[in-house]
Amino acid sequence: MNLDKRIADASTRLRDVVTAHSPATFASSFGAEDMVILDLIERLELDVEVFTLDTGRLHEETHALIALARQKYQRPIRVMSPDSAELESFVADYGINAFYDSVELRKRCCSIRKVAPLRRALEGKRLWITGLRRGQSVTRSDFAVLAHDSDHGLFKLNPIVDWSTEEVFEYLQRFDVPSNALHARGFPSIGCAPCTRAVNPGEDERSGRWWWEQAESRECGLHMDPQGRLVRTIPSKADVNA
Ligand code: SF4
Repeated sequence: MNLDKRIADASTRLRDVVTAHSPATFASSFGAEDMVILDLIERLELDVEVFTLDTGRLHEETHALIALARQKYQRPIRVMSPDSAELESFVADYGINAFYDSVELRKRCCSIRKVAPLRRALEGKRLWITGLRRGQSVTRSDFAVLAHDSDHGLFKLNPIVDWSTEEVFEYLQRFDVPSNALHARGFPSIGCAPCTRAVNPGEDERSGRWWWEQAESRECGLHMDPQGRLVRTIPSKADVNA
């Protein structure tokens, strides 16, 4: 499929679903996909809040891009931080780099630094927009365009879920959209600095995330339901239009 058609489809999804489920918020990690969506939101002049989760362990390049995007688009970007008391207690009990010690401690770190701030950011919203794509990993291969997230009590829209990596970067180049400097250094997926590394050509895009774990456990919990399952259900048309 060519990029023009991809853009048209994603624009229709964004416009229609934001209109049906306002207030909407966009969670941006400032990865390549999220820069495409931020640019589309700006072009379409959609009334959507933008937020990011500053875990306290991000790369400096990511902070630089947040500042650059704020300047380019002239819009507020809500920066969510972890609860300081909870974080201090976790670090005191398990150490500053506890995520390397076990999957359980890694998930607790993600829970404090990402999941809890996300929950606060989604409060009062009816729609959560993400840059998830099916091609990013085995855990995301059957994600839907639109899903109902019963845990957070809102709809979740993945407007570029069917785009390829090449289409994402073609968009960034065509529209001169800024992107994270780490992409050029072999980081297709960028998270926290101690938990992300560069990957080799042809490797799973998310294989550089928590690389010391099995592929099946490499999710941070942001897209999980309380039972630990990824939210991927396609709602009925009636639900979508509710
Ligand atoms: S990605 Fe690593 S540092 Fe970041 S919140 Fe998760 S475990 Fe903690």
